[in-house]
Amino acid sequence: MGRYSEHVISIDEARALVAHHAAPLRETETVTLDEALGRVLAVPLCADRDDPPFARSLMDGYAVRAAETPGSFRVVARIAAGADTLPTLQPGEAAWINTGAPVPPGADAVVKVEDCTDERDAHTSTEESVGPGHNMLARGALANAGAVAVDGVLTPERLAVCAAIGASEVTVRRLPRIVILATGSELQATPGRHEIRNSNGPMLRAVMARYRPDDRGTVGDDPAALAGAIESALNDADVVITTGGVSKGELDLVRPTLEARGSEIVFHGVALQPGKPVLFARDGACAFFGLPGNPASALVCADLLVLPYLAAVAGRAAGDVLLERQATATGAVRASKKRRRVFPCWRRPDGSVDPLPWRSSADLYTLARGNGYLVIEREQDLAAGDRATLLIPERFGPA
Ligand code: AMP
Ligand code: MG
Repeated sequence: MGRYSEHVISIDEARALVAHHAAPLRETETVTLDEALGRVLAVPLCADRDDPPFARSLMDGYAVRAAETPGSFRVVARIAAGADTLPTLQPGEAAWINTGAPVPPGADAVVKVEDCTDERDAHTSTEESVGPGHNMLARGALANAGAVAVDGVLTPERLAVCAAIGASEVTVRRLPRIVILATGSELQATPGRHEIRNSNGPMLRAVMARYRPDDRGTVGDDPAALAGAIESALNDADVVITTGGVSKGELDLVRPTLEARGSEIVFHGVALQPGKPVLFARDGACAFFGLPGNPASALVCADLLVLPYLAAVAGRAAGDVLLERQATATGAVRASKKRRRVFPCWRRPDGSVDPLPWRSSADLYTLARGNGYLVIEREQDLAAGDRATLLIPERFGPA
């Protein structure tokens, strides 16, 4: 009971299997722009009208006929941003104009105020020679009505485009429903002498916050309690993520619980350090990630397997969530004989990388000082000065 086979697969095979099972969700929902940050548009949105919708001044100055510059002008109007009625400029005439105001008919350029003399408002002259279109945006210069204006993941910039084209609500792909469950009888909010607190729950909730997971707290290593908690999680979620209970002990009950339900175990055991006992299963339409209980193991497996899966089902590019770079290590790391190590490190601003002093996969304190992982291939010790592969989870930003 509860023992996984000695057959471990490589992390590359594990990632490929997870990707194979990650079908994008097709259902959609409509949300306001306030709720839309990070969501994925279900369909591209088109501009509702030309942008700008009218020839628009880019400067405070005078609207003129370019062909009449340099020259002197009679100032016949003052046009503020948002102005409704516009004069038609005749030869020799100029209009004082604001940034963002409509350039009036008859004018085809704007001379900025710094380049004009201001002759008591009634006249102005300029020594500048400007061409047609100078200091203005023609109607439709930025976007044409009906053309695709925005698509993909809604960043702050793309939300601005939505607002500009009048999309105050947007249709986005629905989020995967996620349940997080920490297993282990030792996990207690007020721990006794030999008990500990659940740190995996808050950690996992935070790394996948954009999907608003449902953290169901803890369940003990009791077959009936665990079976009940897993059953209800699978009923409510698309993706269930547990921690603990996937190693080789008698009380590692996650796999037997899944097998008793008839779930398909896709893999259990990956040549990865930390993270070897990780389990991935399918249960009907649900995906099940059984992460190891040690915090570093749980986080590495979340970064390498769970977050790419979630990105793919949410309609994002799985490659966006774990960036790969090369860097020079400032210190040595011993390789493992059998497993690829994914080792916490600190990326310095100059691009070099410090391996962090690592005390075991229980070492959340070192983990909390890191901003990426160094990849140490099995049997390939890393020496100071060596080039190495870096994995950078999306939350740390690009290298
Ligand atoms: P397990 O994977 O259940 O064998 O647990 C491995 C180690 O991780 C044990 O020392 C557990 O006490 C610890 N652990 C399990 N779950 C958690 C959790 N949610 N938060 C912090 N430590 C945990
Ligand atoms: Mg346990």
